[in-house]
Amino acid sequence: MSSNFSMFGMPSDVKFCTKCVISNQRPNSTIEFLAKDTANKSGIKIDDKFVCSACKYNDEKNIINWKDREKELIELCKKHKKKSGYDVVVPGSGGKDSGYTAHILKYRYGLNPLTVTWAPHIYTEIGRKNFDNWIKIGGFDNILFTPNGRLHKLLTKLAFKNLLHPFQPFIIGQKIIGPLIASKFKIPLIFYGESPSEYGNNPEDNKLPIMDKKFFTFSNLDNIHLGGLKLREIIEKYKFKLNDFHPYLPLENEKIDQNNIEVHHLGYYLKWDQQNAYYYSVENTGFKPNLERTEGTYSKYVSLDDKIDRFHFYTYFIKFGIGQATYDAAQEIRSGKISREEGVMLVKKFDSEFPKKYFKEFLEYIDLNENEFWETINRFRSPHLWTINEKKEWQIKHQVY
Ligand SMILES: [Zn+2]
Repeated sequence: MSSNFSMFGMPSDVKFCTKCVISNQRPNSTIEFLAKDTANKSGIKIDDKFVCSACKYNDEKNIINWKDREKELIELCKKHKKKSGYDVVVPGSGGKDSGYTAHILKYRYGLNPLTVTWAPHIYTEIGRKNFDNWIKIGGFDNILFTPNGRLHKLLTKLAFKNLLHPFQPFIIGQKIIGPLIASKFKIPLIFYGESPSEYGNNPEDNKLPIMDKKFFTFSNLDNIHLGGLKLREIIEKYKFKLNDFHPYLPLENEKIDQNNIEVHHLGYYLKWDQQNAYYYSVENTGFKPNLERTEGTYSKYVSLDDKIDRFHFYTYFIKFGIGQATYDAAQEIRSGKISREEGVMLVKKFDSEFPKKYFKEFLEYIDLNENEFWETINRFRSPHLWTINEKKEWQIKHQVY
């Protein structure tokens, strides 16, 4: 394989955003070329100036008329407010973002939310505590949905081995559980927190308040893959029934149209600020950060719920060269909490850190030994991102500067 060969269709030429620290390897986002021979703010000479879609969206947030947006929110709430029963489904774990979203919709905008949670693989103590506080101190009704443990374990293992994406089944389930419960309870409104544009998805998406329905509908069962295998293959090989997959399958188109379910993001209506969501949740829903920082980053209030969560970020780092510290630093640079120089330093220090604290639990959960784990990890190191150094160790080729 050529040393510049790129796996997963990523650009083989690695570029970093000159405003934050994210690279062009992030899936579903772009880095735009702006001007030649410009030095970035921190004074480091960079030949070309590149700006990622998340930074572009961040600038756009400053010119949006948020008063008008809030009026749209008030109108929407009026339309959905019922005399009795639930007005809105808020999916979430009770972390700072869903904590803030559910609380503000209920106590500032007068809706009656039903909160819905797709259970973590293995709760951490702090994650479970934050979830309980959200319900007890925040004051919400909640459905905690726990998927079939035997199937969820298998799917997580397949997704790790075939895609190096152990969180894929969780992400799919988490995406579907809101619409699924909304449909069962006939609640036509779903609210998520921040807009996906905050993380670099196409800023155009946030010009529409409503999420594209293709995220939770499908037309043909034969097109469904889970953990890198066709659904039908898993059923045959591992002796499951189609019905076992109910919580992982998108709702059928007809059901959605019957109930006219709308999916909105609060980040479209209110100017989103992560730190603000954090302080709000601490004050109103009993949210607590961890006592120690999360491995792979410097933050104490991200990825707290699930012991397996940090393997999501670690595998992301192996595949795309982007770890959790990059995400956290990028977002804090954008909101002006830290400088780009500080961000670069934090990425260099924490991004590649191996999450050893729950390694044993993770191996037990996916039923693999350490050799199989590393064999899988190394199989997904794209040659354009990774090389073996003189000490015969894997080394990442491009670091943010
Ligand atoms: Zn950026």
